[in-house]
Amino acid sequence: MDFETLAIHAGQAPDPATGAVTVPIYATSTFAQEAVGRHRGYEYSRTGNPTRRALETCLAALEDAPHGFAFASGMAAAATVTELLAPGDRILAISDAYGGTHRLFRQVLEPRGHPVDTISCEALPIELAQRLETPTRLLWLESPTNPLLGIVDIAAASAVAHAAGALVVVDNTFATPFLQRPLLLGADLVLHSTTKYLGGHSDVVGGFVATRNPALAERLGFLQNALGAVAGPFDSWLVLRGLKTLAVRMRQHCANAGEVVAALRARPEVEAVLYPGLPSHPGHAVAARQMADFGAMVAFRARSEAAALRIVAATRLFTLAESLGGVESLIEHPLRMTHASTAGSQEAVPGTLVRLSVGLETGRDLVADLNRALDAAGS
Ligand SMILES: *Cc1c(COP(=O)(O)O)cnc(C)c1O
Repeated sequence: MDFETLAIHAGQAPDPATGAVTVPIYATSTFAQEAVGRHRGYEYSRTGNPTRRALETCLAALEDAPHGFAFASGMAAAATVTELLAPGDRILAISDAYGGTHRLFRQVLEPRGHPVDTISCEALPIELAQRLETPTRLLWLESPTNPLLGIVDIAAASAVAHAAGALVVVDNTFATPFLQRPLLLGADLVLHSTTKYLGGHSDVVGGFVATRNPALAERLGFLQNALGAVAGPFDSWLVLRGLKTLAVRMRQHCANAGEVVAALRARPEVEAVLYPGLPSHPGHAVAARQMADFGAMVAFRARSEAAALRIVAATRLFTLAESLGGVESLIEHPLRMTHASTAGSQEAVPGTLVRLSVGLETGRDLVADLNRALDAAGS
């Protein structure tokens, strides 16, 4: 079945008890048993809940995976994945990954004895094999990266990592499965913050992991229950509702991003636009190969940090806020906001950088807002 059809139907047959067409919010902690151990597949909602199960089935189908696990947040999903590590296992991560991912690696896992190293998008195609000569359990990738919109060749990186005995995790939050399916490119695990495009309306926090590897799936299912950072039924329902319109939303997000990119490139106050859809972007050819379109996250460098701060304060439609992937457009200053925890470290992002999450208002209104803000901010 096609993506759009799966998004609406996978895991979502009418409710067997009532015929409800929409999967109900099963707000219950426990389930009656007919006799000891005789039940209808559910015992306790941390272990399994029908609303969460519907989301897990649907989103796994969208990632072309037989197994999926929904969590209370993207970070809960990431933290659960890192529980696959044995004591002393090393992690190699893409250097401009999500700030919270670096915080987890540097401030939680490294002090606990997991060596953590980073590799940049530019170095990765050349140096990955050499950097994996040190035994490594986990290669943690994002593509496009956050916030610099770098591109990683997921198939090539997965082949190198597998030859070195490492597992590959791809954080697919920016692309969504509508634009990119990392498991089909060779990754072992795909991870999402469902808070972003999958929920799509900035009204829920959630996370998700899928795999095609049965042994990893069994262990993740065990860890999901044992650690307990599960998605609640209402949150699961919100994300499931978001998935139904993911395809139409992503098409419009991408079209609006194209308009915004073209407008920014015409402005002298903008030193450079970072967007994988631009032929001048170093990852353009790889992105064109592994993605269906280029997404709606756009970054640009202003002429100075002061100018960047004036611009993010001057827009009206683009709301100054962290997060991304909702219907409303957002603007932010990564160094002082989403990536503040990287300041001063080797993963720090430039202070001139401005990040946009291009929403579903009209491209025309969004361009007018940016032009007005750039006029007001000066260079
Ligand atoms: C937001 C985000 C996360 C963390 O997800 P939460 O739902 O906020 O815990 C991880 N990776 C990326 C790329 C993100 O944008």
